[in-house]
Amino acid sequence: MSKEYETVIGLEVHVELATKTKIFCGCSTAFGGEPNTHTCPVCTGMPGSLPVLNKQVLKYAIAVGLATNCEITRFSQFDRKNYFYPDNPQNYQISQLYMPICRDGHVEIENEAGETKKVRIHEIHMEEDAGKLTHDDFYDCTLVDYNRSGVPLIEIVSEPDMRSAEEVISYLETLRTTISYLGASDCKLNEGSMRADVNISVRPVGEKAFGTRTEMKNLNSFRAITHAIEGERARQIDLLESGEKVVQETRRWDDIKGESYPMRSKEDAQDYRYFPDPDLPPIEVSDELLEEIRAAKPEMRPEKMKRYKDEYDIPEYDIGIITSNKHLADLFEETTDVCKQPKKVSNWIMGEILRLMKETETDPENLVFSPENLAKLILLVEQKVINNNMAKSIFEKMFSEDFDPEKYVEEHGLKTVADDGALRKCIEQVLIDNPKSVEDFKAGKDKAIGFLVGQTMKAMKGKADPSAVNEMLRELMK
Ligand code: ADP
Ligand code: MG
Ligand code: ZN
Repeated sequence: MSKEYETVIGLEVHVELATKTKIFCGCSTAFGGEPNTHTCPVCTGMPGSLPVLNKQVLKYAIAVGLATNCEITRFSQFDRKNYFYPDNPQNYQISQLYMPICRDGHVEIENEAGETKKVRIHEIHMEEDAGKLTHDDFYDCTLVDYNRSGVPLIEIVSEPDMRSAEEVISYLETLRTTISYLGASDCKLNEGSMRADVNISVRPVGEKAFGTRTEMKNLNSFRAITHAIEGERARQIDLLESGEKVVQETRRWDDIKGESYPMRSKEDAQDYRYFPDPDLPPIEVSDELLEEIRAAKPEMRPEKMKRYKDEYDIPEYDIGIITSNKHLADLFEETTDVCKQPKKVSNWIMGEILRLMKETETDPENLVFSPENLAKLILLVEQKVINNNMAKSIFEKMFSEDFDPEKYVEEHGLKTVADDGALRKCIEQVLIDNPKSVEDFKAGKDKAIGFLVGQTMKAMKGKADPSAVNEMLRELMK
């Protein structure tokens, strides 16, 4: 009979920090760009060049540490991690081994059962990213681009506290919201600004000792992470059930094939011959710097959710969605500031905006319309200058090109016709043209009115208030 197994998971999460320049030189961190144009002697590892720490990197790392309940190391330093690989021009990576900037933190996540659970953070350290290799099959060569070399990273190392793929996703989501609320990174898995290495082992339920773990790299979506955990759990259980051993190694998950294969045997710290980097002075975190970072901490998601509940009469579900992303929350607040219609703004976000974002695969930070113009559109409906359907069709345009909807309505003559006479004339014609529907309505088929409203709206080119049309139709058919 087979035993029950428990999955044990610990994560090493790399996050690219949102600084404008690299960690040890003034080169741009902008994504893309012609290969090797965002480079200088420092980030291409030229002999004789010297690194200088970008202070913003330290500030972001500390801010993330404070937000994840870490202890800040007041005196820390950088270490060299030595290894030879062409994406690493110095032949060492500047990282932190002995004195990471943050230690002993935790975040609270929500597990499948809806309970709150603590995931402990072992440490957070600062380091530099490597360059990027592209293997060119056609020319049978490998090309290297150092634009990413020296982009600042923090690595957040958790304790092995997670027990399922759901907990892992919840942990990553918590980190992502926390870090993006701080403005320290946009944390995009699919663009590589957040990368998770998943360490996983299994043990028979009830067993205290951990099993041997493997590490899976290269996971760039929640879907791939979930599949990889499920696949690796099954593989390890199979091995143990057939009396074999799990080998400690790094494996690569192939999400298309749905299986993992060994990449290399796991290195120990000693393989890297770490030693303190002699080119960089130790880092002393002063009381003033800590205070400055604490004081600059923005409102975080839990506080925001609570404030929305107190301040606005909108459903809790909507609050959850809107605050899940800082940019959406900003859009909500800035629009509401102008139009003072929180409920309407939330309806627009939950409805049209999310729908179009999904349809066009647009991320919240890439929305082009301004909160002011969205507010104007909402007010145009409130003041019955245009009806809801007209607003939706105008918004479809605003979604791809920001413009002032007041001017647009004016210029295109889209105002609802307030003149009762014109509407009456139009309805009279609709009634003449649709005798069958009139008959149906009079015979008690209330549904027929919907068709007549539709015909009238069409004849009015959308420039009528549907409820006024409905009312007048009923009156004229009495
Ligand atoms: P290394 O320095 O060799 O990478 P660490 O002790 O720093 O090893 O652990 C790396 C990651 O592996 C951490 O996130 C940790 O939580 C996780 N981990 C350690 N042991 C296990 C285990 N038995 N099962 C699952 N994850 C583990
Ligand atoms: Mg490690
Ligand atoms: Zn540089």
